[in-house]
Amino acid sequence: MNRRSFLGAVAAAGFTGCAHRNQPVARLPPAPQALPPYDALPTLMPVRAEVDRIFRVTVCLRPFRAAGPRLDVERVGDKTVIHNYGHGGSGWSLSWGSSSIAVEKAMQTGERDVAVIGCGALGLTSATLLQRAGAKVTIYAKERPPEVRSARATGTWTPDSRIALTNAVTPDFPALWETMCRRSFHTYESYLGLAGNPVEWTDKYMLSDRSPSERHADNGPEDTLGFAHYQDRVKDLSPGLQDLPPGSHPFPSRYAQRTTSLTFNVAGYSRQLVNDFLVEGGKIEHVEFHSPSELSQLPQKVVINATGYGARALWQDESIVPVRGQIAWLIPQPEVNYGVMYKGVFVLGRRDGIVVQQGLNEMEGYNDANETPDRAAAESSVRLAAELFGRMKIGGGQGG
Ligand SMILES: Cc1cc2nc3c(=O)[nH]c(=O)nc-3n(C[C@H](O)[C@H](O)[C@H](O)COP(=O)(O)OP(=O)(O)OC[C@H]3O[C@@H](n4cnc5c(N)ncnc54)[C@H](O)[C@@H]3O)c2cc1C
Repeated sequence: MNRRSFLGAVAAAGFTGCAHRNQPVARLPPAPQALPPYDALPTLMPVRAEVDRIFRVTVCLRPFRAAGPRLDVERVGDKTVIHNYGHGGSGWSLSWGSSSIAVEKAMQTGERDVAVIGCGALGLTSATLLQRAGAKVTIYAKERPPEVRSARATGTWTPDSRIALTNAVTPDFPALWETMCRRSFHTYESYLGLAGNPVEWTDKYMLSDRSPSERHADNGPEDTLGFAHYQDRVKDLSPGLQDLPPGSHPFPSRYAQRTTSLTFNVAGYSRQLVNDFLVEGGKIEHVEFHSPSELSQLPQKVVINATGYGARALWQDESIVPVRGQIAWLIPQPEVNYGVMYKGVFVLGRRDGIVVQQGLNEMEGYNDANETPDRAAAESSVRLAAELFGRMKIGGGQGG
């Protein structure tokens, strides 16, 4: 089987457990046993997957770099610039870890008045960590949430989704990725259980009429580039995929697997990050830079550059490849707080909307910078979801 395509879809949808709890996913699992009572599924309510419940369609460009995120230090005139961009489909997931590395470099300069360019996932976490380290911080950005691209993400823990190409990274990158991943995860723990649930654990179900070994066929084009996958390095952070025996779940698919992973309710979470930053005395200024030389106008001598896809134009960094992704947003249903992946579509019940995302394969949208929403594609992904939820059992048949 094409394990890479399959793992890509798995990673892109937040299925962090790449393997069955006891067995590699590439092999056909044994006939699953009944679930123990403590592991029985809760009653799951179906998503009302109707095209007239789409309240918006958004498109975002993942800032992908084959070599992984840029985190080096550069001198521009009298400024020290620490780069923190190029996180592909993993920007939210790796944000705290990546920003912690950028902040360490900024603090090593000895300066305590620091500028951050960008107010997305990486800018906000850089600014927050700088404040926690004792710096006075000003964010300069063209957009702030909810206008930033980060606000249009799916909002799941996907730390190695479109993060790099296996053959393009330096030998030390996998260990650096692991450091970023563990630091991020650890910081996210402190956002659990808060009012408004900015971050929460949710169950995710991988459904298919094909066996796990054949499932790559559900997920679209083959990965000919060789996207890197490092989830095996952090298996201890979240549960592996668990086979669900027939009759133990309400879905009409032949095969069902479950895991549990972090969900980011991005609207509330980014608002909280902005508010926390402002409460601590941070300032946000609306500025657009057109070339690195314009940084000379800033009073600060140390700058963290967290401009995401914007770095391609600003820094003339053509190593950034846009990877287009579209989401159809359905009106939220408080009773739907789980995710499913089915025939290449990922549906995730968030507090701020139900995400319907098509194109989970990592090749999908590669090198496509078109940010215009495609309404027809959005409706077709919602109809595909309707096919699933229309045949879902409500109540009964969900015991262990
Ligand atoms: C469909 C989709 C789903 C995704 N889902 C997930 C997910 O579930 N989990 C996950 O971890 N990641 C996900 N991602 C990836 C994630 O969204 C990105 O990695 C992340 O948004 C990058 O954040 P950023 O802060 O680098 O960039 P941005 O959010 O783009 O922020 C850049 C900031 O820099 C500013 N800026 C840029 N250029 C300039 C300039 N010239 N002058 C001044 N300011 C400038 C912008 O205004 C903005 O404030 C997804 C991406 C897509 C497309």
